[in-house]
Amino acid sequence: SERKWAAAQSIQDELERHGYEAVIVGGAVRDLLLGRDPGDVDVATEAEPQIVKQIFQKTADVGIEHGTVMVLHPDHPVEVTTYRTESSYSDHRRPDEVHFVKSLKEDLKRRDFTMNALAINSDGHVMDYFSGKEDIHHQIIRCVGNPEERFSEDALRMLRAVRFAAQLNFDIENETLRAIRKLAQSITFIAVERIKVELDKIFLSKYPEIGMRLLKETSLTLHFPVLNSDRVNENLQHWRHFNALGNSAYGWAFVNLISGCKRTEDLVRGYKLSNAEKRTIQAIANAVQIRQQSFWSPMNYYHFSKETIRAAEFFTSILNPSIQRMPDEILLEGYRNLPIQSRSEIVVNGNDLIGWSGQRGGPWVKQWLNRLEESIVLKEVQNDREEIRDWFQREFINK
Ligand code: ATP
Ligand code: MG
Repeated sequence: SERKWAAAQSIQDELERHGYEAVIVGGAVRDLLLGRDPGDVDVATEAEPQIVKQIFQKTADVGIEHGTVMVLHPDHPVEVTTYRTESSYSDHRRPDEVHFVKSLKEDLKRRDFTMNALAINSDGHVMDYFSGKEDIHHQIIRCVGNPEERFSEDALRMLRAVRFAAQLNFDIENETLRAIRKLAQSITFIAVERIKVELDKIFLSKYPEIGMRLLKETSLTLHFPVLNSDRVNENLQHWRHFNALGNSAYGWAFVNLISGCKRTEDLVRGYKLSNAEKRTIQAIANAVQIRQQSFWSPMNYYHFSKETIRAAEFFTSILNPSIQRMPDEILLEGYRNLPIQSRSEIVVNGNDLIGWSGQRGGPWVKQWLNRLEESIVLKEVQNDREEIRDWFQREFINK
C-alpha cells in the first residue's frame, strides 16, 4: 500500500512538473480518510492521454478511449485518467461518448457516490465539492446528484451501492435507496460478468449479511438467478456467520448449499462461473453432505483438500448449529495420520500386480489398484513392496 501511494504521488509530481494539474482520486481518497488499505491508487489529470504517454516512457493502453492510460511505474502500475465528462447513456450501462475537460469538479461530478467523488492534491489538500467527507463521517452512501438519473445512466451503480454498504457497514441514504428500489429491474441491462464481480466483492466483504439483506430489500435479487429463490431469501440469517475465508468461490459454494444443491448447474451457467469455481462448489457440497452425517474418515481426508474440509467444516456448523465445529488442530491431525497423500506415493504399479497375478492385464488391474489404494489409506496394508505382494497374493486368490 505504501508503494502504491508512492508510485501514484511520483506520477502526480511528474505531471505537475510538466505544468499539468494532477490529483489522486476516487476510492483511494475515501479509503485514506477511513484508514483502510486502498484497492488501487488512481490518478486523474487535466493532461490528455497522448500527453500522458509522452511524459511517461512505459505505459500500457488499458482504456484510452475513456481517457485511461496505465503508467508502468517501477514500484507499482498506476491508472492515469484524463478529467472527463460523460454524455447520454442510452443503454443504461455505458456513456455514448466521453469528453475530456479541464475542470476537476466536472470530472468528480460524473462519479457515483459522494464518498468516491473526492480528490487530493500534492499538498495533501482534499477537494470535496459534494460533501463526501461529511457523508463518510456519517457513514452514508449517497449519489452525486439525482439518484434516479444516476442509476438510469448506469444501473451497475445500484449494485455498487449495496457492495459498498457490505464492505463499509455504511447506510444507503434514503433517496438513493428509494431510487434503487424503483429502478432495480434495470440491473438486467448489465452483463452478468460485471454483476458477478460485485457479488464476489459482497461475499468477500466484512459484512456479507448486510449486502445480502440489501439485495433482498431493494428487490435487486429478484433479477439474479438462484439468488432469487425462496430458499435463499428465507435463510438470509446464515450470512451473519459467513466468511468467504479469502476465496469468493466459497461464497458461491455457500449460495449453492443454502439453495439446496439442486441448482448447481443454474448457478454455474447463470453467473458464468469458471471450471475451478464449479469444482470448488461441488467438492464442498459433497463434503458438507458427508459431514452432516458423520465425522471425517481417513478416506475423506485423503480425497478432499484441507481447504475443502475446512470450508465444509465451517459451513456445516453454520447450517446445522447442533454440529460442533472441529478444531483445526484435529483436522490437521487427520491429514498427518494419512500413510500416503496421493496415488503416486504407492510403491508398486499395475505391472507389479500383473506379474504377481500370473494373468494378463485388463480392466481388473485398475480395480485392484483402487482397492490397494484404499487398503493403504485405511492402514490394512503397509505401503511396502513385500507387504503389498503378500496382501495381493492372499486377496487375489480369495477374490
Ligand atoms: P474499490 O476499493 O473496490 O477499488 P473504488 O471506489 O476504487 O473501490 P473502482 O471500481 O476502482 O471503485 O472505481 C474507481 C472510481 O471510479 C470510484 O471511486 C468512482 O469515483 C468511479 N467509478 C467507478 N465505477 C463507477 C460507475 N459505475 N459510475 C460512476 N463512477 C464510477
Ligand atoms: Mg479502486
